[in-house]
Amino acid sequence: MPTIDNQNRAIFSFEIFPPKRDMSMDTIYRTLDELTDLEPDFISVTCGAGGSADGSNRRTIEVASAIQNKYHRVGIAHLPCIHFTRNDVLTMLDELETNGVKKILALRGDRVPDLTPKEDFHHASDLVAFIREHAGDRFQIFAACYPEGHTEAPDLDTDIQNLRRKVDAGVDRLISQLFFDNEFFYEFLNKARKAGITVPVEAGIMPVTNKKQIERMVTLCGATLPRKFQRVLAKYESQPEALREAGIAFATEQIVDLLAHGVDGIHLYTMNNSYIARKISDSIRTLL
Ligand SMILES: Cc1cc2nc3c(=O)[nH]c(=O)nc-3n(C[C@H](O)[C@H](O)[C@H](O)COP(=O)(O)OP(=O)(O)OC[C@H]3O[C@@H](n4cnc5c(N)ncnc54)[C@H](O)[C@@H]3O)c2cc1C
Repeated sequence: MPTIDNQNRAIFSFEIFPPKRDMSMDTIYRTLDELTDLEPDFISVTCGAGGSADGSNRRTIEVASAIQNKYHRVGIAHLPCIHFTRNDVLTMLDELETNGVKKILALRGDRVPDLTPKEDFHHASDLVAFIREHAGDRFQIFAACYPEGHTEAPDLDTDIQNLRRKVDAGVDRLISQLFFDNEFFYEFLNKARKAGITVPVEAGIMPVTNKKQIERMVTLCGATLPRKFQRVLAKYESQPEALREAGIAFATEQIVDLLAHGVDGIHLYTMNNSYIARKISDSIRTLL
């Protein structure tokens, strides 16, 4: 089993999402057959914002456990806390630990229409402190950060102050929100280091495969689309294959620049697309 600790090179990791509850698990296992072949340092598994209400967490636990036990790679379970009670979290931690999943991405989660958040956790830092209190150092804790600031924060500086509180509660590593202009990431990192945040930060990269998908993501997370990227979208929006290849080229160029800057790691939002993950992985493997 590979380890991501004490590496003296950049980490390269993938993010996947489990199938919805009414869909077969076969597709995710086919995707994992291909992704694990690329030997990422870890694969993280998202958890739908519905939490326990729609059973999202069950599939996250199942897939993260399979990554550990069936594929013998490092699996990380996302845990968006506002839709869970403390007891739910304790039960999930128990189950994850039993299955050998010892890494958690501790998140607040987004508010969902028609679903009232539970009252036990308000910020991701509450979950981080709770895990440390109840499980000590038995879990390695990851958390999210936002190179352009979180959409609800009044400004980047305030967001970084809140990030510092979250890290101080017991975070080991950070994974960033997606961004398309590396300058935002460098400026954020500079500010975070000045604010005393010393943990490794992985850069989140999402290769674009279709225009609608990217517009939805950008609306949700507020990432800036640089002009040269908009030109690519405009030129190839009606040619899916060309857009996919252009998206791969753009993401690869971003990653090469990040690695040249000595970034701690690259976290690829794969959208369960193993073709894209393989193309990028093949191009950058020797640069890590
Ligand atoms: C890598 C990554 C993976 C993700 N995976 C998932 C997933 O699987 N499922 C899912 O539902 N969502 C996921 N998300 C989305 C995430 O849940 C949302 O972005 C959410 O809005 C914020 O989560 P957080 O953990 O960053 O929250 P927090 O760290 O709690 O921050 C949220 C906001 O609150 C502010 N804040 C934090 N602490 C305080 C405080 N003490 N006082 C006042 N303000 C404070 C912050 O500045 C920020 O504006 C992911 C995001 C990233 C970057």
